[in-house]
Amino acid sequence: MTDTTPHNPMKPFLGKLVEVKDLATEIKLLRVELLNGGNEAFKACQPGQFAFVSAFGFGEAPFGIANTSQRGPYLDFAVNRLGSVTTGLHELGEGDLVGVRGPLGNWFPMDQFKGKNLIVLGGGIGGAPLRPVIQTVLDNRADYGRLTILWAARHPTLLVFTDEYAAWRAAPDTTLHLTVDQADEKWDRNVGLITQLLEKVAPSPENAVTITCGPPIMIYYVTRLLEKMGFVAKNNYVTLEARMHCGMGKCGRCNLGPKLICVDGPVFSMSEVGELMETFL
Ligand SMILES: Cc1cc2nc3c(=O)[nH]c(=O)nc-3n(C[C@H](O)[C@H](O)[C@H](O)COP(=O)(O)OP(=O)(O)OC[C@H]3O[C@@H](n4cnc5c(N)ncnc54)[C@H](O)[C@@H]3O)c2cc1C
Repeated sequence: MTDTTPHNPMKPFLGKLVEVKDLATEIKLLRVELLNGGNEAFKACQPGQFAFVSAFGFGEAPFGIANTSQRGPYLDFAVNRLGSVTTGLHELGEGDLVGVRGPLGNWFPMDQFKGKNLIVLGGGIGGAPLRPVIQTVLDNRADYGRLTILWAARHPTLLVFTDEYAAWRAAPDTTLHLTVDQADEKWDRNVGLITQLLEKVAPSPENAVTITCGPPIMIYYVTRLLEKMGFVAKNNYVTLEARMHCGMGKCGRCNLGPKLICVDGPVFSMSEVGELMETFL
């Protein structure tokens, strides 16, 4: 008999790690294949959504889903080792099991972006939820205008998805600009903050939307600069992070003014959250 009981949204699906690799210093890519009905739950998940991943015996934490469902059936997570859960996840290897709860949150309106030029600005691990945006554009290239990627990290060893840069650069009408705060002896690209790079690249605001993710201070200064450059707030999208427990709008832990990042976000246009950004720093 088929089980028709609705899935309890607090109950994780079981997932098997089918690939674990270093992405950058202290950042691992975990590729998860879902086992008990999870594929069905995640098959329509959208760029920008997130999930809670649990390391058994350590707990669970939220992570942006770093691939499109079309590239699946698997989920990629880029996990930066910070504290107990992320250390627990870093200790796992291929074949190990994790829990995955989701998909949660809203997403980038990729359909509304069709026909527009996209400027994607990623800082450090903030590149993770932007990767499915880039994948969507590359996999449906004729649907979107020019794609300009500005990608930043504190140091070259902290840049994520480096093995994909050649494919991004080779895609039609796509440019990738890299910058680091501090170079090493091999680095021959830009050195400086992403805001300096943005001024140098100077993309046109005409028929364009911007999508930014990174540390709060980066999002704050990038979005202020974009507005100075003529990009209007409603076309500047950000994805935000905050400490959260339930991910379902119940615990109230992730509030930004009257908004809850877990259910009203994590994707917002600056016309929704611009005035709240100072409280987010
Ligand atoms: C919607 C969303 C998407 C996210 N996506 C990713 C992702 O793709 N990759 C990734 O590596 N991380 C992501 N994070 C952050 C991730 O959830 C935290 O790093 C994780 O909860 C840390 O858990 P921990 O148990 O290892 O650390 P803890 O032991 O809980 O904390 C260790 C230290 O990190 C600080 N910290 C913990 N969480 C955060 C946070 N959210 N913001 C700032 N400081 C924090 C704590 O204050 C403490 O100082 C995301 C968070 C949200 C809300």
